[in-house]
Amino acid sequence: MTIEFTRRFSRPLMLGKTPVGGGAPLSVQSMNNTRTADTAATLTQLEELAAVGCDIGRLAVADFSDAAALPDIARFSPLPLVADIHFDYRLALKAIEAGVAGLRLNPGNIGGKERVKQVAQAAQAAGIPIRVGVNGGSLEKDLLKKYGGVTAEALVESAGRHIEMLEDAGFFSIKLSLKASRLPLMLAAYRQMAALCDYPLHIGVTEAGLPGKGSVKSALGIGILLAQGIGDTLRVSLTGDPVEEVKLALDILRALELRTGGIEIISCPTCGRTDIDVVALAQAIQKEAALLTPAKPLSIAVMGCAVNGPGEARDADLGLAGGKNGGVLFAKGEVIGRFGEEELLPELLRRMRELA
Ligand code: SF4
Repeated sequence: MTIEFTRRFSRPLMLGKTPVGGGAPLSVQSMNNTRTADTAATLTQLEELAAVGCDIGRLAVADFSDAAALPDIARFSPLPLVADIHFDYRLALKAIEAGVAGLRLNPGNIGGKERVKQVAQAAQAAGIPIRVGVNGGSLEKDLLKKYGGVTAEALVESAGRHIEMLEDAGFFSIKLSLKASRLPLMLAAYRQMAALCDYPLHIGVTEAGLPGKGSVKSALGIGILLAQGIGDTLRVSLTGDPVEEVKLALDILRALELRTGGIEIISCPTCGRTDIDVVALAQAIQKEAALLTPAKPLSIAVMGCAVNGPGEARDADLGLAGGKNGGVLFAKGEVIGRFGEEELLPELLRRMRELA
C-alpha cells in the first residue's frame, strides 16, 4: 500500500531546467564549500554533487573575483546554479549576466528600493527566480526587539518584508526559506509561512551541525515538514563535505517514499537470537550497493534469524534469513536455497550485481 502525503499547493517556477513547486518532484540542493573564484575546484565539486544525485547547486558570490568566475562555471556546470549574494546588488547583476539559474538574495539587504528594482528587472528579463532566505541568525534588530528574540513570527515578518520589496518591484518568481537551527522554531516558521502564501518553499534546518546529530536534526526537521506536505526543494546543512548533505537529503526522500531509486537495505537490529554476522553482511552489502546504479529500485533484506527473517526476506527483491551456520536466500519472494555462512555474502553480492 502506498501512502501519499498531500502536498501544499505552490506556484511553479524553473531553476534552469529543474522545476520547483507546482507539484514538481522534490529537488535536492547543496552548496559548494569551494572558493567560487577557484573555477576548477568549484566545477569539480559540482561534478561530485551531480554524481550523487544533487539537482541544484549554490555558490557563494562574496566579491567581484567570485562574480568573474561565474560565466565559465555556469557554462560548464552539470547543475543549475543559484548565486548566493548579500549586500552588494552589483554582484547580483553580474551573476545574472553570467547565466546563473537563480539568485538567493534578501532585498532588504542590498541598499534600497532602486537597487532592488534593478535586480528584479534583470532577473525578470533573464527569467530566473529569487529565493528570499531568512535565517534565525540574521534577523533585523527591530524584529528581535519587537518579538523579544528570534521567534517564528519574527522570521515570517522578516520574510514578508523582503517579499513585499520584490512584489513592489513587480517581481513574483519568488522562493522562500525560513531557516533556524532550533527545530521547534524552524517548524513553526515554515508552517506559518506555508499557510500565508503560495510561493514555493525551500526547506532545511540551518547549521544543523556535524553528521550524526546534525543528520538526526535535519531528517526530523525536513521529514516532519515533508510529511505535512510542506516543502518543494530541500537542503541538508551539515558541517563537512556537501556530498554527504546530498546523500542524506536523498535518504530522507527515500525513507518517506517521495523518491525512488537506488538500493534500499533492510537489516535487522540483531538480538540474542542472531545466528549470523548481520552487521558484517549488511556493511559489505552497503559498500557494494554504493557502487551500483540499478535501473529500478532494489530492496535487499539481511535478517538474523528465522523469527522475522523469512517474512522480510520474502518481501524484498533479494533477502537473507539467517539460521544455524548459514541461511536461506530469497529472490522476489521465492526460496533460492540454503547456503553455508561462508557462501552467503558472495552469493548475495553476485545476485545483487545481477539484479542491479
Ligand atoms: Fe533478532 Fe531475528 Fe529480529 Fe534479527 S530478525 S532482531 S535476529 S529476532
